[in-house]
Amino acid sequence: MARRRQLYEGKAKILFEGPEPGTLVQYFKDDAYVFDTQKKGIITGKGVLNNRISEHLMNRLMEIGVPTHLIRRLNMREQLIREVEIIPLEVVVRNVAAGSLSTRLGIAEGTRLPRSIIEYYYKNPGLQNPLVSEEHITAFGWATTQDIDDIVALTLRINDFLSGLFLGVGITLVDFKVEFGRLYENEDLRVVLADEISPDNCRLWDSKTGEKMDKDRFRRDLGKVEEGYQEVARRLGILPEAGIRDLRGPELMQ
Ligand code: UDP
Repeated sequence: MARRRQLYEGKAKILFEGPEPGTLVQYFKDDAYVFDTQKKGIITGKGVLNNRISEHLMNRLMEIGVPTHLIRRLNMREQLIREVEIIPLEVVVRNVAAGSLSTRLGIAEGTRLPRSIIEYYYKNPGLQNPLVSEEHITAFGWATTQDIDDIVALTLRINDFLSGLFLGVGITLVDFKVEFGRLYENEDLRVVLADEISPDNCRLWDSKTGEKMDKDRFRRDLGKVEEGYQEVARRLGILPEAGIRDLRGPELMQ
């Protein structure tokens, strides 16, 4: 098959032209990059795991009526997605204090927050994705008030659903980042979940031991990075390579 035309290459993914108009192919790389420290590396097998984990989580979310850009996974590293107009915001949801929230506000990592907090960062690598408010977003036209209402409603549903899904397999969803896009369908314009949801953009801690199973293992040089990602997939019941047992489905923790 002729190689598809590459449209965009990011830190962890490449976007290719899709087989039909309005579709794209999203390819998951093993490359890891940390913006703040400019730390670069390869996490062997990360792309394969993130492709599978993101597919799984988006499919579960679609089952509860959350619209996403995902059409289907194509192979180990690629998925077919709908082309959307990306809203230039990184939407972060936090349930437990960690990372930049802890640093910025001096709240100890691991402190459960009084309620889930949504933050917006303007997607602009040249400015290092600064934290912005709704005022900035609407004033500068990055999204409308209606877009923000849709984003908040979807984000809260995603957070509640994924928090429960992960807790069921003994993982605390500490925080995560999502991105949304606008999808034009006939006359309608819809805000849909885009990008990916994987250990690259979630903080996932073992509920009992607090052990980190996400990109912080790479960011903070904790070692066993691949193992962390694999453990997430294994607990979600989507790591068939690990044995027959793992084909059955999620493993309920007591
Ligand atoms: N995050 C992300 N991409 C970014 C920045 C953050 O996916 O460019 C995710 C990160 O993995 C974490 C959440 O958003 O799950 C909150 O990250 P935080 O603001 O604490 O920043 P960090 O400490 O990762 O720099």
